[in-house]
Amino acid sequence: MISFNYGDCVQLVDSKQRRYTITLEKGQEFQNHRGNVSHDEITKTTPGKYVESTGGQRFFVHKPTLSEFVIGMPRGAQIIYPKDIGAILMLADVGPGDYIFESGVGSGALSTALLRVGAKIHGYEIREDFASRARNNVKKFLGEEFLSNYNVEINDSYQAVPSETFDKAILDLPEPWLVIPHLQSRLRPGGIFISYSPSITQVINVHEKLKEFSFTDIEVTEVLHRSWYIKEKSVRPDHRMVAHTGFLVRARV
Ligand code: SAH
Repeated sequence: MISFNYGDCVQLVDSKQRRYTITLEKGQEFQNHRGNVSHDEITKTTPGKYVESTGGQRFFVHKPTLSEFVIGMPRGAQIIYPKDIGAILMLADVGPGDYIFESGVGSGALSTALLRVGAKIHGYEIREDFASRARNNVKKFLGEEFLSNYNVEINDSYQAVPSETFDKAILDLPEPWLVIPHLQSRLRPGGIFISYSPSITQVINVHEKLKEFSFTDIEVTEVLHRSWYIKEKSVRPDHRMVAHTGFLVRARV
């Protein structure tokens, strides 16, 4: 039987679908305005069951998926959303043993997804506080052992990238085109470049730089995610959707 252990990341969902992500610790309590739930009590239950707070509020408890974790995790920098992370895994063809240069690492949403499929990351992040938050998020969701595949340096990727050979490079930066001149000789032949940018003017600059440095197979995509409302005879797209997150540029050396 699958059960919860101390150190596990758990999500509690209340009757209004509000989600709270916690890490189970011996003797600790989850505190809520509708009463508390002891972590010890959660370890005695199983995923998919309910626990009751001291104030009588019922919480559904489960292990969050990576997507649910990323949406609820502590952030400093803006994260890449799950729909785009999913596309990046495919566009960059990420698999076990891939050696990836990532910059910036921000809150570590993308990093967590890359590490989980078995990639190793050398990241450059300019802010120490973001780098340490990213490491904490990776540790929380994947466990401490994944940190050995996650080397984040406090460094400016506009100035240089590590003198190593990478299979893939994935950028989420305000001015990603400034990194392209350093990357060309750092990606192995056939290596893949990905850049995520919210604005099309950034995409145009990246596209121009990629051509100047002889990258090939340049593709630009965006991922639109439309959810549906289904209730009795009313079956239609939801009225609201996240209309825009960012564009993805993919190229090969
Ligand atoms: N992809 C990340 C979010 C990255 S946000 C995630 O999914 O969580 C962009 C990050 O780039 C920020 O953390 C910012 O501090 C960092 N950054 C900005 N300029 C940089 C530079 N020149 N070198 C390295 N990191 C930089």
